[in-house]
Amino acid sequence: MVPFSVTILGSNSAIPTLHRKPTSQLLNLNERLYLIDCGEGTQVELRRNHVKFLRIKAIFISHMHGDHYFGLIGLLNSMHLLGRTKPLVIVAPEELKRIIHIQLLAANTRLSFEWEFRPLTPNSHTVVFEDSALRVQNFPVKHRIPCHGYLFKEQEREPHMKKEMIAKYSIPAVDIVKIKKGGGFALNDGTYIPHEKLTTPNDPPRSYAFCTDTLPLPEELPKYTKGANLMYHEATFLNDQEDRAKKTYHSTAVQAAKVAKACAVDQLILGHFSTRYTTLDTFLTEAKPHFENTDLALEGRTFEIG
Ligand SMILES: [Zn+2]
Ligand SMILES: [Zn+2]
Repeated sequence: MVPFSVTILGSNSAIPTLHRKPTSQLLNLNERLYLIDCGEGTQVELRRNHVKFLRIKAIFISHMHGDHYFGLIGLLNSMHLLGRTKPLVIVAPEELKRIIHIQLLAANTRLSFEWEFRPLTPNSHTVVFEDSALRVQNFPVKHRIPCHGYLFKEQEREPHMKKEMIAKYSIPAVDIVKIKKGGGFALNDGTYIPHEKLTTPNDPPRSYAFCTDTLPLPEELPKYTKGANLMYHEATFLNDQEDRAKKTYHSTAVQAAKVAKACAVDQLILGHFSTRYTTLDTFLTEAKPHFENTDLALEGRTFEIG
């Protein structure tokens, strides 16, 4: 199986501190790199994790609170100074396009690379990005301003040819390509060997659900994320601040765990911790009785997807 993982670059909410940075994550699918949110200091964390960040293909921003995008213009500028030429895709709420433009305009900077901006419509659920390896859908979450979750899913992979069948029927290479795309094989005497007899299915596509800055949505999120191998869900607060979580459109650790259970995911990671919490063990103590396979999305940690 090809490697598919997410590395946490920032786990804090609201402000950067010495030990925790605002939200940012790096998705790596077989050395294709994608960035999810870009809080202040993201490029420093990319360096700390030895990521060749000129290779990032696309950046996905959840919403327009600064702790999710204040690092973006700095990162774009560094890519420019380092001579990036490959185009970059930015998927984000449409307000961000004007902000990037005005920052570049004020500095009289013309980036060394093309950037394709794909604006998100509030409350939408569409495919926002696709390449040969990955398919990304956004989905609405519920926050003080429009906010988007993302489901990152591997593309369906072609089935494996059964080697013994290739030998048995002397199947030429040109037909193997067709069979892998769903076809069968006709023998000279007219006998038809169906696709299923010639192939074994590949592993099912793995997926990662990114759900940040939201009230808990145990009824809505299964529609978009059911059965994901890994789910990141924000847990800004512990039980002691449940009222505050509701008022600020955030979730507690327990609520995040209940959402993970409702979505029947394999593993849950928690992040977007309020700065008020200096130790984080209690997030696990509170979450695990509701969803056992829970971990903390801390800076520098890498989680395998599937
Ligand atoms: Zn936030
Ligand atoms: Zn927010």
